[in-house]
Amino acid sequence: MLVLFAASEVHPLAKTGGLADVTGALPGSLRALGLDVRVVMPLYPGVRPKLKNARRIAEHVPCPFAGSNRPFHLLESTLPDGTPILLVENGGVFEAEDAIYGVEPGSYGDGHLRFAYFARALLRVPAAAGFTPDILHLNDWQTALAALLLRTGVEKNFPLAKAATLLTIHNLAYQGVFPVADLRRAGIADALLREGVLLHAGNGNLLAGGLRAADRISTVSRTYAREILSAEFGNGLEGLLQHRAQDLCGIANGLDTSVWNPATDPHLSHHYDVDRMDGKTACRNALLARARLAPTDGPIFGIVSRLAAQKGLDLALEAMDTVLQQRADVRLVVLGSGEPRLEAGFRALEARHSGRAAARLAFDPAFASLVEAGCDLFLMPSRCEPCGLNQLISMRYGTPPIVRRTGGLADTVTDTTERTLSDGTATGFAFEAPTAAALFARIQDALALFADKPRFAQLIQRGMSEDWTWKRSAQAYAALYSEASNARIHGSAARWVRDILPPDPIEVELPILPHVPAGYGANSLRLMPRDPETLAVLWDLALPEHAEIVLELTDLECAGSERRAARVLERQAFFTTRPDTRYRARLLTSGGQELLQSTVVRTPRRRG
Ligand code: ADP
Repeated sequence: MLVLFAASEVHPLAKTGGLADVTGALPGSLRALGLDVRVVMPLYPGVRPKLKNARRIAEHVPCPFAGSNRPFHLLESTLPDGTPILLVENGGVFEAEDAIYGVEPGSYGDGHLRFAYFARALLRVPAAAGFTPDILHLNDWQTALAALLLRTGVEKNFPLAKAATLLTIHNLAYQGVFPVADLRRAGIADALLREGVLLHAGNGNLLAGGLRAADRISTVSRTYAREILSAEFGNGLEGLLQHRAQDLCGIANGLDTSVWNPATDPHLSHHYDVDRMDGKTACRNALLARARLAPTDGPIFGIVSRLAAQKGLDLALEAMDTVLQQRADVRLVVLGSGEPRLEAGFRALEARHSGRAAARLAFDPAFASLVEAGCDLFLMPSRCEPCGLNQLISMRYGTPPIVRRTGGLADTVTDTTERTLSDGTATGFAFEAPTAAALFARIQDALALFADKPRFAQLIQRGMSEDWTWKRSAQAYAALYSEASNARIHGSAARWVRDILPPDPIEVELPILPHVPAGYGANSLRLMPRDPETLAVLWDLALPEHAEIVLELTDLECAGSERRAARVLERQAFFTTRPDTRYRARLLTSGGQELLQSTVVRTPRRRG
């Protein structure tokens, strides 16, 4: 099975969040199962220096965008685990600014242009690189549009259109919402800019469009897959997701255990594993020293997180304030940055409990490892957590997490109860209500168990020995790919496309590939009526720019033809036409051999 795996960020080339952790690890695990997976992402300026042995495998691949041709180059390289990665290079589109999603938080910058372009480009990648995927695996709003284009636009004539599409939601809070006018400027046809197609609640919504058209939808935990059907977690898309509930499933993320390993983590001064735990004690002391906290035999609590409302850290602030007041032997180390309100809260907590609470308001991967390793208990009281990575890391590092029972936290942490303690399956503590009181109560339970050394050690041991590798998740994705293939023709997305959208491609363009020189992809020839009396003939050819070609326009109603000489680099020509008449164009070599043929187009009627 050949899978084209598309994402806007892939570790270690580009990362802004957990998405990159998944896209950097899952493809390699799928390959280990025998699937042929190739990753594709945009080439941002920051990525270039990190590429090893990259080579251009196609140049000037034509890509229609916003009314003109914006060709891209295609680079090929490999990820550290050997997975092939293709990079779409278009300086004008992806190098305008360095921040992947724009410089202002939440603005996405020119995201509508970037990712509308990326969607169109990625659909042209297989032909350019010379393979035909069975599955197109899309991730989040940045790639979602491709699912819709593949079923509706010119792209539905591509060989790739036989592929089934899977769209994975990593966080439903981010949907790629843009004003309709922006999407029109990005070259999206009006036929798609309709409520219930690419619009949702009056705005362009790239994720919504993709969710409607994808053959299968997944998200990153079973519980989150259920939660997003409700108004509380659906972020306005719950109705659409309910409609597709039978095509939606949850697969929890794995952990890159070669990176997150307390026995080898280069950020730790002392190493350990489940059979040799001395190193953890050394990390504990190192952490207290680094954070300038007073020595203690009592429990050290840790937080590593984006400081965002979603993470429920206001609950931690309140609950830990009380715990620190009540227990002189408790310590707290916080690592995170984000919302000023929360940063100020943790700074104040540090000041109130000087020497016992420390807040490092930064993004610091080395310190993150030390917190995960040096603490005794980890706090993750998220209001919403699609999957979550930090609870997996903390369990692997022997630091039982205290989590709110939501999303992936509910699926990956086995709560401590009498039963799970006696059958040895407990790995952490979970609480239900998103309140400081509920968290506080669970912290008390954790403190009690911490005092019971043998039973607490059992909890640590179980968490460290669970299988957090990607293999389990990869097996589930492989099964899902087969399901998506079955749904490709008769599934609910296919029916929706048939029912709601016009049967003809939404734009007139023809990517015929008759004599494709090696390394090139989509040659195209299309006809665009400008007015009843003018027809534009537009072409893109993978031939030398100065090569001579012949254009031929045939009036199919009187069967008369007009021929005209042109050069490859001109890319367009205008013909005078009769209104309301069907035309077809051909491109020929100067010797008369046919290169491309267009679809049939009818010129508009004269008004009035
Ligand atoms: P999210 O993707 O919502 O931020 P996850 O728990 O899925 O949350 O993933 C968070 C990732 O980012 C983890 O790899 C975590 O270690 C890392 N991380 C978060 N905040 C920081 C920070 N301040 N410094 C270093 N790493 C951080």
